[in-house]
Amino acid sequence: MITEAMITRAQALVDKNEVEYHHTDGNAHIFIGKGHNVSKDKEYEIKAEIQQDNKIDWYCDCHHAQFNDECKHMLACQILMNTMKLRDEYKGLSSDIDKHNDDEAVEDREDREFVKNKVIGMRAFKIESDDD
Ligand SMILES: [Zn+2]
Repeated sequence: MITEAMITRAQALVDKNEVEYHHTDGNAHIFIGKGHNVSKDKEYEIKAEIQQDNKIDWYCDCHHAQFNDECKHMLACQILMNTMKLRDEYKGLSSDIDKHNDDEAVEDREDREFVKNKVIGMRAFKIESDDD
């Protein structure tokens, strides 16, 4: 269970740069977390593995995560994923290589956003003229 206290601690890890993004391997983002106190020289590997249904499976090799489904490192990395805008959608291996697909997808989203705004703009115009 994720508690408010865990989120606060996770945010603190991010703020103090005690978790950092390392690299992406296929559909897995790898992060490194630093230990505290007695384990301060230890590094944890945190892994976010994107599943085909775009759900993310989290792994962490800290002590806490061995007995729980979540740990503060996973939460901290989720915050990092959001702030760094890391990919959170599953990609087939073939399209992984073709980076051009990525750019097209972004353009497509922007186009749709533009069309949406245009439609909203037209509707606003219509409402205005109805008032006259
Ligand atoms: Zn952990």
